[in-house]
Amino acid sequence: MSSVESFAPRRGEPVFGRLAIIGIGLIGSSIARAAKELNLAGTIVLADRDEAVRRRARELGIGHAVAETAAEAVRDADHIILCVPVGACGAVAEEIAPALKQGAILSDVGSVKGSVIEAVTPHLPDGVALVPAHPVAGTENSGPDAGFPSLFLNRWCILTPPEGTDAAAVAKTRQLWEGMGAIVEVMGAQHHDLVLAVTSHLPHLIAYNIVGTAEDLEAVTQSEVIKFSAGGFRDFTRIAASDPTMWRDVFLHNKEAVLEMLGRFNEDLAILTRAIRYGDGETLHRHFTRTRAIRRGIVALGQEKPETEKLRKP
Ligand code: NAP
Repeated sequence: MSSVESFAPRRGEPVFGRLAIIGIGLIGSSIARAAKELNLAGTIVLADRDEAVRRRARELGIGHAVAETAAEAVRDADHIILCVPVGACGAVAEEIAPALKQGAILSDVGSVKGSVIEAVTPHLPDGVALVPAHPVAGTENSGPDAGFPSLFLNRWCILTPPEGTDAAAVAKTRQLWEGMGAIVEVMGAQHHDLVLAVTSHLPHLIAYNIVGTAEDLEAVTQSEVIKFSAGGFRDFTRIAASDPTMWRDVFLHNKEAVLEMLGRFNEDLAILTRAIRYGDGETLHRHFTRTRAIRRGIVALGQEKPETEKLRKP
């Protein structure tokens, strides 16, 4: 895995004295690894509800210390990041609230922002700022072993501070993510949830659906689905292997935006279905030409490598 040598960011002065991370999964352990290697916090304390995960984090030397409880981990912390499934953020915020110190910044990494803000805000003590974040980076793997320090390098991290949030708290949060190599953008939570519904949530739903359909067809095709799973289907199976708890929460908590995008998706699919049925090659060709240009735009923005480069560097 990547180490600090392969990082564009340099080790510098810590952004925070004490950083607390609740939830030692893919994202939490990646933040801890990056922040430790890059000296972004003086002390990094982690917590997880699962005893086996805490033990594994200690074995792997993730962060500086692993606390027994979330409340213990956040005591005296300057910056706290909730790295638990979206649906657990409210309960964790309630649990840690009495232990948060004045002037602390509470953040999270949830893939949905509106519902996290709604669930966390009622528990926020006076004098604690809320700066929600969403690193648009990940893999299909979960748990403390899955994390690596370069996960956020050259990836977007979207901050969605509610109106009126202390500007200095937003600036410090930005500094932390930029320190880990992310490109930071600030936007409203509602806008975030709509954008991510189409760029991330809908593609995951399609992958979960198509892989399930193919499995149902297995009985008919007698394992040929797996045997001939070249390119397209194989990519879907990778996405459909993503964490079931995390994705259940994403769909339950970004319901409105996902349903809106799903409606549009179904309308567009009907147009393609019709073109195939009536042999309308022109419509299909025009559509595929437009989508090819979108793919090239993503490569040009540096968010993905061209296929040829992937082949050279497996
Ligand atoms: P993960 O690898 O499954 O890790 C989540 C960890 O949080 C697990 O150890 C889990 O323990 C623990 N946890 C769950 N509920 C808890 C609670 N109430 N108190 C304390 N710990 C708790 O998940 P992840 O991929 O890191 O995702 C974490 C967050 O990052 C989610 O909100 C997700 O939306 C967001 N995110 C994920 C990705 C991605 O690609 N994976 C990308 C960007 C953002 P158990 O195993 O016992 O449940």
